[in-house]
Amino acid sequence: MVNISIPKTPYRKVPAPWRAAYEAHIQIVERQVAVVAAWVLLITVVFYQFTHQLRLGHNADVWLTEAACRLPVLLCALLTLVSHYTGKPRCQSRYLLRAMGLSVMTMILSLFLVHYSGQHENIYQVTNGMVISFFGVTVLSVRGPKEFWLLFAVPLAIFVPVALAMGIATKALLPFLFDPMVMMVIGFVLSEALRQLRKGEFLARQQLREQATTDQLTGLLNRRAMLQLLEQEHARAQRYGATYSLILGDLDRFKGVNDRYGHNIGDIVLQETAHRLKRQIRAEDALCRWGGEEFLILLPQTSLDGALHVAEKARLALADEPMEAGEHSIHQTISLGMTSCQGGNDIESAIKRADDALYLAKENGRNRIEVIAAPGLEPPVTADDIKPAQTGAP
Ligand code: GH3
Ligand code: MG
Ligand code: MG
Repeated sequence: MVNISIPKTPYRKVPAPWRAAYEAHIQIVERQVAVVAAWVLLITVVFYQFTHQLRLGHNADVWLTEAACRLPVLLCALLTLVSHYTGKPRCQSRYLLRAMGLSVMTMILSLFLVHYSGQHENIYQVTNGMVISFFGVTVLSVRGPKEFWLLFAVPLAIFVPVALAMGIATKALLPFLFDPMVMMVIGFVLSEALRQLRKGEFLARQQLREQATTDQLTGLLNRRAMLQLLEQEHARAQRYGATYSLILGDLDRFKGVNDRYGHNIGDIVLQETAHRLKRQIRAEDALCRWGGEEFLILLPQTSLDGALHVAEKARLALADEPMEAGEHSIHQTISLGMTSCQGGNDIESAIKRADDALYLAKENGRNRIEVIAAPGLEPPVTADDIKPAQTGAP
């Protein structure tokens, strides 16, 4: 039966290891919002420009002034679309969104000043445009409040002194700015809600992905995740002729530990083994729980000589110090089988060699390392020199 467990305490903050993935996720959302916004701006700005006569009557001067106010928005929208569809210029969507937001604010505030100081009767048409624009700009602040304040604070901080310099009293502006400000607040609440929703969705998806690739007991990668890494490494080895090594470990006489101390103590031994093995490998290596009490280590771009050192450290990490589990002190050892691969053959045959080497290690007395080199590759000279230490678990 498939058992899907739902996390009891969903994350609220993005944990440090997921930050890079979250940043990538946000950039994808930003790109999507930027493309939609660019198309919307292109259509609406052109539409408003060409319906000017219909809405506001004929006035060639104002038509041209309006076109000048709208031009930066059109250019930003076009730049965004060209950058998206051709890949050039290589511009981060975050900055394109910022440019679009600021140009929309500049456009609508300039239009307001033009109409306020000119044909006063059209001012309510511009106020409607302001309501729509303010709402639209809030949607562009994908990253939340920081971006939101920048998009509004900078243009408004310029607008107010300019209005004052033009002799417009701040009080006189209030009736026109009231509705747009209300819309700005509504837009802010909505964009913040959308941000939280996206973050929650990212965290839930990431948590499920992690569950699907992690072994619940030890916290190590599971077999499925390791097979994916192996495929990647094998493909790389085939392409570049690099060598990777595999170390397959199996706890010695582990059934006896379960039988003598119980399954719970056995679980603690497995966790402690995972912990000790993890400390022996580099960040670029991978360690997984391959099966019940079997662990597989993948050492990318590592020859058998290098891998032998890791295997020996792994063996000693268990053999040298008994494990404290409950009130028991358990002397647990591990047998290890090693091989390397240079692409060429398939992954299964490399795993089979590691498994055969492990079988040899068991046959030859346990708590030891055996190596089966890939066909055509020499085994490391030191492999045969490794003396089996104390054999067997208690
Ligand atoms: P050998 O040295 O030949 O490997 O002997 P062994 O006793 O380790 O080998 P065997 O394969 O007979 O036993 C493996 C044991 O591992 C049997 C099984 O109960 C135990 N095991 C597998 N998964 C778990 C687990 O998740 N928790 C616990 N506590 N035991 C497990
Ligand atoms: Mg086993
Ligand atoms: Mg075993």
